[in-house]
Amino acid sequence: MSFVPLDHKAAGHDGTLQSADGSLFSKPTLQREIDFYNSVQTLAQQQPEDAPLGSSLIDWMPGYYGILTPGITDELKDKAPAGQQIDGELTKKAKETVQKSGKEKQYVVLENVLHGFKKPSILDVKLGSVLYDETANADKVERMKKVSAETTSGSLSFRICGMKISDDFNGKLPDDMGDLEISEVAKAEGGYITFDKFYGRRLTKETAKDGLKAFFKHNNLPPKVQKIIIDNFIKRLQLIYNCILDTEVRIIAGSLLFVYENDLERWEKLNYEEPLIHERLVTEDGEDDDEVEIKIDDAPLSTLKFIDFAHAKHVPGKGYDEELAKGVENLLSILEGF
Ligand code: ADP
Ligand code: MN
Repeated sequence: MSFVPLDHKAAGHDGTLQSADGSLFSKPTLQREIDFYNSVQTLAQQQPEDAPLGSSLIDWMPGYYGILTPGITDELKDKAPAGQQIDGELTKKAKETVQKSGKEKQYVVLENVLHGFKKPSILDVKLGSVLYDETANADKVERMKKVSAETTSGSLSFRICGMKISDDFNGKLPDDMGDLEISEVAKAEGGYITFDKFYGRRLTKETAKDGLKAFFKHNNLPPKVQKIIIDNFIKRLQLIYNCILDTEVRIIAGSLLFVYENDLERWEKLNYEEPLIHERLVTEDGEDDDEVEIKIDDAPLSTLKFIDFAHAKHVPGKGYDEELAKGVENLLSILEGF
C-alpha cells in the first residue's frame, strides 16, 4: 500500500495522507485517539446484533484500520497494538508532507470518507464549548478558554473549523457575507473555495447561520438537490443526537465532518437516493488483510461522520456528553430554518 498527500480537507493539522487508490485516509495522531478507536470497537462487539444502524457511535465514525509505521520511530512503532500495523510506503511527496508537519508522530489509518466523491464539498464543525481536557497545561487552558469565549464555541457549542466548497461562481462569496473580502478569510483555487479557521472564529451567534448557508447553498446544484442534502443532514443529526444521549463518552474538541457531492451526474445516476448511514463499503479480501476494495458505484452522495478523538474517552456510568448534545441541538435548529 502506497500513501500520497491527501487531496481535500476542511481543517486540522498538516501531514494528512491518503492511500494511492484513495480508499484510506491517514493523519498524525495521539495515542489517546488510537486507544479510543480500539475501545469503541471492543464496545461494538458487545452490542446486540440487532441494534439499529446509527444507534452506536461506531456507526458514525470512519472505519478504523490501524497504524501506519513508515517514517515513525521504533519507539512509536512498539506502541502500536498488536496486529494493527499497516504495511505502507510513502511517496516522495507524502514524505515531504509528513516532514513539513513537524514532529514524528504515530499515523492512524482510517476509511477515507471522501472516497468515491467526484467533487466533494467538506465542512468541519467542532462541537462543545470546552476545548481543553485535563491533560492541557495552564497555558493551553487559558488560550482555549479565550477561543471559546470569543467564538460560537462558547455561545452555540459548535464552531465552523474550516470548509472547502465547490467554487461555482468564480471566487465570488455569497451576498449575505456582507463586505467580507475573500482574501481575508478564504482562498479560491483549483475549482474550490477554502475557508480557513479564522473565518469560523469571526462568526457570531447571529452570523453562524450564514456560514452554514454558504456551505449548503452557495453552489450550482438545483434547489431540489440542495433540499435533499439539507433534509438528509437534518435526519442524520437527529439520529446522531439520539446516539449521543445513549453514549457515555466525553469528546473534547471532536468534530462533525459534513460531505456532499457536487457532481450532478452522480446524483442523477443514483436517482437522488441514498441511505442516511452507509454501512461500510469496504470488503476485505479474505487472503490478505491489506487488500481492501471499495465499490465506487455505491459511494455516498453525502455523508456525516464524527471525527477527531484526540481528547475522547469513555465514562461508564457518568451519563451522556451534554456539550455534544448542545452543539447538535443548535446545528439542528439552524438547518431546520433553511
Ligand atoms: P486534526 O487533529 O488535525 O484536527 P482531524 O481528525 O480533525 O485532525 O482531521 C483533520 C481534517 O482531515 C478534517 O477537517 C477533514 O477534512 C479531514 N479528515 C479527517 N478524517 C477524515 C477521514 N476519515 N476521511 C477523509 N478526510 C478526513
Ligand atoms: Mn480536528
